[in-house]
Amino acid sequence: MTSTWTVLSLLNWAAPYLEKYGSTSPRLDAELLLAKVLACQRLELYLRFDKPLAAAELASFKKLILERRQGVPVAYLLGEKEFWSLTFKVTPAVLVPRPETEHLVEAAISFLEEKFSTGCGVLDLGTGCGNIILSLAHHFSGEAGFSWLGIDSWPAALAVAAENACQLEIEAVSWLTSDLFAALEPSKNFSFGLVVANPPYIVSAEMASLPPEVHCEPVAALDGGPDGLEFYRRIAATARDFLVPGGGLIFEVGDEQAEEVKKILASNGYSAISGLFDLARCERVVMGRMKDE
Ligand code: GLN
Repeated sequence: MTSTWTVLSLLNWAAPYLEKYGSTSPRLDAELLLAKVLACQRLELYLRFDKPLAAAELASFKKLILERRQGVPVAYLLGEKEFWSLTFKVTPAVLVPRPETEHLVEAAISFLEEKFSTGCGVLDLGTGCGNIILSLAHHFSGEAGFSWLGIDSWPAALAVAAENACQLEIEAVSWLTSDLFAALEPSKNFSFGLVVANPPYIVSAEMASLPPEVHCEPVAALDGGPDGLEFYRRIAATARDFLVPGGGLIFEVGDEQAEEVKKILASNGYSAISGLFDLARCERVVMGRMKDE
């Protein structure tokens, strides 16, 4: 007698298998991947535990599980990731949005509501799949005073961002390929009330010891130079020329980097420098402002 794989028996096999190969959320991974194969919501699996799987479904699931075993992030296998309650397309051309980056979005919204409630230019440097700037533009949609610009050095990333804009029906964001500010000329109509960035911040020497999942993500989105702080220095030094008086600069920072990034902001003349903690009590967001005129 041949045994038939059901939804439940397959999950009960796949979860310990993925755990053995290092996944920290094996059951969830298995459920998400099986839901993709069966084209249903994850929770619907619970109503179909006894459903036998067809050979083609089994083969697709097995392929995904093998990729996951090698460390490919679930988000790449699913082709999407939720961020700020919106669904973003992701491919290996972009960093997978992380939940802690939502603190940056929160800080940006508070800043804009408090200081530029009638609108201003907002720039996101290293936009990747566009999650930060699209979440902001979505929040302020219908408020005509804002203009939104997402910059990335990699056209392949911007192609994903533009697709997300289309998918989310957010037309207000412009996209530009540029190495940080290189393609912008200060005073040529480029002045911003807010610049945000979640720049690469991993110390170069630590890149090799990152978990396999992170190795699947673009190096250019992760490697922050010899001390991990290179992009903070470059951005803080140049953003001054592009910010209006009272304009803000808000960064996501890596673990233990907040104090150093605050010093970088201070030495570049920013004021009202402060930080915000994430749910893991790590100081995750650092911000400063240009002086008012
Ligand atoms: N802005 C994107 C994010 O925060 C990508 C950041 C990056 O590539 N370093 O997820």
